[in-house]
Amino acid sequence: MAKESSLQKSDIDYLVQIVGIEKLSRGESVRYSHSHDESFHKPCLPDIVIWPQNTDEVSRIVAYAFERRISVTPWGAGSSLEGNPIPVQGGIVLDLQEMNRILAVRPEDFQADVEAGVVYKDLNRILEAEGLFFPPDPGAAATVGGMIGNNASGIRSVKYGATRDYVMRLTAVLSDGQVIRTGSRSRKCSSGYDICRLLTGSEGTLGIVTEATLKLVGLPFTFMAVRATFPTVGDATRTVFEIMRSGLTPGAMEFLDADIVGVLNRDRGLHLEEYPTLLMEFSGYSERGLEDEMQFVTDICRGNGCLLLDRGIGPVERKRLWEIRHLTHESIRRAHPGLLSLSMDVAVPLSRYSDMVALCKEIVTGLTAYVFGHAGDGNIHVVVMDNPDDEIRWAGVEAAHSRIVQQALDFEGTCTGEHGIGIGKKGFMVREHGESLETMKKIKALLDPRGILNPGKMFP
Ligand SMILES: Cc1cc2nc3c(=O)[nH]c(=O)nc-3n(C[C@H](O)[C@H](O)[C@H](O)COP(=O)(O)OP(=O)(O)OC[C@H]3O[C@@H](n4cnc5c(N)ncnc54)[C@H](O)[C@@H]3O)c2cc1C
Repeated sequence: MAKESSLQKSDIDYLVQIVGIEKLSRGESVRYSHSHDESFHKPCLPDIVIWPQNTDEVSRIVAYAFERRISVTPWGAGSSLEGNPIPVQGGIVLDLQEMNRILAVRPEDFQADVEAGVVYKDLNRILEAEGLFFPPDPGAAATVGGMIGNNASGIRSVKYGATRDYVMRLTAVLSDGQVIRTGSRSRKCSSGYDICRLLTGSEGTLGIVTEATLKLVGLPFTFMAVRATFPTVGDATRTVFEIMRSGLTPGAMEFLDADIVGVLNRDRGLHLEEYPTLLMEFSGYSERGLEDEMQFVTDICRGNGCLLLDRGIGPVERKRLWEIRHLTHESIRRAHPGLLSLSMDVAVPLSRYSDMVALCKEIVTGLTAYVFGHAGDGNIHVVVMDNPDDEIRWAGVEAAHSRIVQQALDFEGTCTGEHGIGIGKKGFMVREHGESLETMKKIKALLDPRGILNPGKMFP
């Protein structure tokens, strides 16, 4: 693996030649802001932060780092939850946020070419005028590069899939500085190994993405948002399964436990009923078509003891509803000042969702914990608030985390539905992947023989 390297003056001089003195910093505050993500994982300072402006600069920086065996960690918005962009071996952090140009939008092909630093919400604001959008929606102010790094997904994935499903073509810089362009603009392609899919979800450990051609989707004509509350968690999660099995395709299907609804009420001044809740969205061509679907949804919810069904929410309410959902993490954190969060993220086959949520609730008994998730994808988040400096309590949090992941794996699920491996999930890779982990290691060794790209991640 790459040796820890504190840079020498000659290194800085060389890097200044590439990007200019304004586009790199060794200042304490800049290094600190690039030493941690949104997780509780311990910060590690990089030696230097560089803001490249184009692929050629990235290539020259990485080629130099390869020669000198300096670690290079790509950085998007630093919003990860598993320590994914923390530069654990110091070295260079390549912050791609200034490579944020939308290079082309081709509405007729449902495609956009973007640089890696584009924030997906900015992209969607521009695409709206064309009646298009880029569906993966992780909520935070994530960049396209970071979404590709983590194969992010979110509330819309139940209908539209994850980032990986939208990456058609990539420009990436490999560990020796070589630039590759991979993929195709064709909607179908069975030509050769799919390097786009390999790089997506590789967390910057195999290459640095500088540009992407993204697949886009037409904005639906009309939406209907629904909030349904249930007497028990089991009633709510059983409803998820039945709605998904019925052949309906919700555009979002989120579960919140009663405690989270309470936190949201207090933090946002809301007056929502504090019961296990499903937030759903349906979209289509006409109000009438949606009304028919809604009747079906209503019947399923009522059949499972639904207490309240707030449906037909208009565009303003709909926007507010999803904003509230996106702010869940923030509201939880604000409710517990001084504590840090361990944000768990597992996913299981849909048939196991109900059991998994019940087990999560049981496992975190006695902890300050909240259970929610992208229910339609079988994705569960458990956020536990505690103090990592209190060794005994934190050991209990870690033990609960481990039990939840092991349970998800027992159900033939995964240790991470969307947050990636980073530092926090490395320990589960052997159990989840078995022998195929060796194949992953061989791929890593082939593409990054000197181990300079985001070292200390992914592998136990
Ligand atoms: C409140 C909150 C809610 C969240 N909800 C969700 C959610 O619903 N779904 C979800 O998927 N995630 C969620 N996340 C996690 C996070 O926002 C996403 O994983 C996001 O995609 C990270 O993007 P970023 O730009 O911040 O990337 P970073 O955190 O900066 O980086 C992510 C990873 O990609 C690598 N990387 C960055 N740029 C590049 C590049 N150009 N080329 C190669 N590798 C690169 C980094 O080294 C790192 O390993 C949430 C986070 C927060 C704080």
